[in-house]
Amino acid sequence: MDDARTALAFADHLAIQLRADFPLIVVDTMEEQRVVARAAEVCRTLHVRCLTWDVMTGFTSVTEGRPMAPATDAIDVLSRLRQMSSDTLVVLKDFHHEWEDHRVLRAVRNYAQRGGAAGPSVLVVGAGATVPEALRDTAVSLTLPPPSRTELQEVLSEVCRTRWAESRLDAAGLEHLVDSALGLTLEQARRVFTKAVVNDGVLDLRDIELVLEEKKAVIASSGALEYIEPTVRPEDVGGLDTLKEWLRLRERTFSAAARDFGLPPPKGVALIGLPGTGKSLTAKAIGALWGVPLLRLDVGAIYSSYMGESERRARHALQLAEAIAPCVVWIDEMEKGLAHGGNDTGTSTRVMGTLLTWMAEKTSPCFVVATANDVSALPPELLRRGRFDEIFFLDLPSRQEREEILGVHIRRSGRDMAGFDLTAVADRTEGFVGAELAQVVHDALLSAFDAGRELATSDLVAAAGRVVPLSVAQRERVGALRSWLAEGRAQPASGHRPW
Ligand code: ADP
Repeated sequence: MDDARTALAFADHLAIQLRADFPLIVVDTMEEQRVVARAAEVCRTLHVRCLTWDVMTGFTSVTEGRPMAPATDAIDVLSRLRQMSSDTLVVLKDFHHEWEDHRVLRAVRNYAQRGGAAGPSVLVVGAGATVPEALRDTAVSLTLPPPSRTELQEVLSEVCRTRWAESRLDAAGLEHLVDSALGLTLEQARRVFTKAVVNDGVLDLRDIELVLEEKKAVIASSGALEYIEPTVRPEDVGGLDTLKEWLRLRERTFSAAARDFGLPPPKGVALIGLPGTGKSLTAKAIGALWGVPLLRLDVGAIYSSYMGESERRARHALQLAEAIAPCVVWIDEMEKGLAHGGNDTGTSTRVMGTLLTWMAEKTSPCFVVATANDVSALPPELLRRGRFDEIFFLDLPSRQEREEILGVHIRRSGRDMAGFDLTAVADRTEGFVGAELAQVVHDALLSAFDAGRELATSDLVAAAGRVVPLSVAQRERVGALRSWLAEGRAQPASGHRPW
């Protein structure tokens, strides 16, 4: 897949706005150089003059490549625009800071309102450039997607050429390196590629790690996304056979070969169940199972008290995820994020709308795993048929599953599970969820260590006696979840029935 299509779409949209003599276009991005480059290309095709302006240098002609008269006062800039011919596009860098002054905002509004072909089209670009309320009816905002593979490849070749670097990567290695840079801005990519080659003058497999490190930092700075290291292996998840088999089957449909075969990538899966039943664990295992990055989307972190900022963050996070695709996007405890506020003047509804639209319309292979403990807090439209490929319900583990989960944790402590009577422990842990079984093993290890002897089945049985499972303390909650399942809204994650 090449996402050059989306980059192209930006140029197409811009061309449409210019042909329609649209007075004011706003692009919220820190990649102003890419915007100027795209704008210049579009202008060339449409035979339109292209100028840029910033507060330090004033107007500069991009098409003719020369600086023009300086103009640093915003009102003055707008009066100069009135003297220019309409077959011009003027890119105003960071001009959104200027319209924080109400007089400038008024002047922009006057400029934009005087209609059609009365002057140049203006494109305001900058990080955080959003359309203020007063300009909503006259301005259009365009989105610049993150750099495509093709653009990153070009930067990489340029860096290697100018730095005389020797590449020790074969075609697959180079592709991998470019893929690891997906999600970075062009400048960030240029910086990290340069760092990679100036280190030792060569480009090799070790540089992929360097690029990935940079990307993790970029993802973290987005505020709402987190890159999760692939530490959970599929064999660390005990039980849940139906769910695991479903995921195993989808692994191949997520591949490039499947896409070439004409199979659309799977959209996503919802995992619903009591806390501690292994929903997060499964989400983490999918990344490792499919060999793609796992990004955790913190819906709560998307919310901001600033008007419009929450949707902007949501869009930015989803765009970043799309740029990194193929990947798994894990929406953790989605009921918490989406039930946010309730009286927050519709912000949570709009954020959810952004998410739902994205889930329905995304064509890139971003597989969504949404986990939730409490179905009653979820908006019903989220779980409507067709939104997810499947909705799984993770019930209390059956006896056999409890044995498997205990086995996973015994193995993780470096012991052979054959040395224990796990059936006896499973018998005494009815109603325990995976997290409680993990706790039983942990407590048993503690007591054995404290007593200065090796772990025995009796330690596990004794530890089980000390835990009061949540399913006992919250019997009603289990009942409510199960009746939800009985209404046929989800598929059991395991073929074993615990009751
Ligand atoms: P939740 O369903 O609340 O997301 P988690 O996946 O976070 O639960 O489970 C918490 C911990 O409990 C896991 O890190 C793991 O140690 C243990 N656990 C839960 N379910 C399982 C399972 N099916 N197999 C192995 N361990 C499990």
